[in-house]
Amino acid sequence: MKVLRSPKIFQALMDRERGRARTLGFVPTMGALHEGHASLVRRAKKENDLAAVSIFVNPLQFGPKEDFSRYPRTLAADMAVLRKAGADYLFVPKAEDFYPQGFQTSVRVGREGVSGLTRGLCASARPGHFEGVATVVTKLLNLSKAHRAYFGAKDFQQAALIERLVEDLSLDIQIRVCPTVREADGLAMSSRNRYLNSEERSRALALPRALSALKRALEEGRPLGKTLRSARRSLEAGADRVDYLEIVDPGTLEPLKRPRALMTAAAACRFGKTRLIDNVSIRISQTRRK
Ligand code: AMP
Repeated sequence: MKVLRSPKIFQALMDRERGRARTLGFVPTMGALHEGHASLVRRAKKENDLAAVSIFVNPLQFGPKEDFSRYPRTLAADMAVLRKAGADYLFVPKAEDFYPQGFQTSVRVGREGVSGLTRGLCASARPGHFEGVATVVTKLLNLSKAHRAYFGAKDFQQAALIERLVEDLSLDIQIRVCPTVREADGLAMSSRNRYLNSEERSRALALPRALSALKRALEEGRPLGKTLRSARRSLEAGADRVDYLEIVDPGTLEPLKRPRALMTAAAACRFGKTRLIDNVSIRISQTRRK
């Protein structure tokens, strides 16, 4: 695996690989890698000749009171994960090279009057977050020159926004959204899970449990409003704070009042100081919608 620090050199190398008619799969990450990230790299490698990964803790997507400075940075362990998963290139830029002096461009998805991918759910608790994500991802995709880029369904609002921006800006890349990888007990893998102490880690199961109970009940044909209220209560009993628990349209992310054939239940909540997110998709047959 070749490790590159300079954005210009990374882009030139990827350009050269493309010129040799190699297909490129790209996986952007913030490091502290786990099996969820590894699954994206394996998929990138399976569908392309070469897999490139970036590790960059992007300052633009953290709010002033968030965990930017304590976000785990574990490069040596990350490199071992990536070698095992089959990555060919690793791009690890320094912030000052990625955003050199004078950098002042921002990418914002969402427009007044147009239904907002960046209005509800995580956007409410994290103002500016998705603008930071859209900006870094646009730049990373341009640097990577990849044919395909791989994202996790765990961050489904982020994935929806990236699909939108690629479409809106006509970026020449295919976006692949891959399934959430979970621990054996159901907790979605996340770099932030390592912040949890053992008491918080056991309470954190309230999150996947509330979502799977919600999925089961709706798939059995229970009414949406009542089911959602009861799932909220059980999540509130386990978490220290619930930012949201919603059932939304997976395309527009608008909250739903009545069941649809395809829905997403998504939640964000805190255990101690750690904010976790998760979601499940729900599919119900015509006859069971109430
Ligand atoms: P992050 O390093 O948290 O920015 O995540 C990098 C990529 O890995 C994003 O596309 C995430 O959605 C994806 N990812 C994170 N956790 C998981 C998981 N448990 N399963 C699948 N993909 C994940």
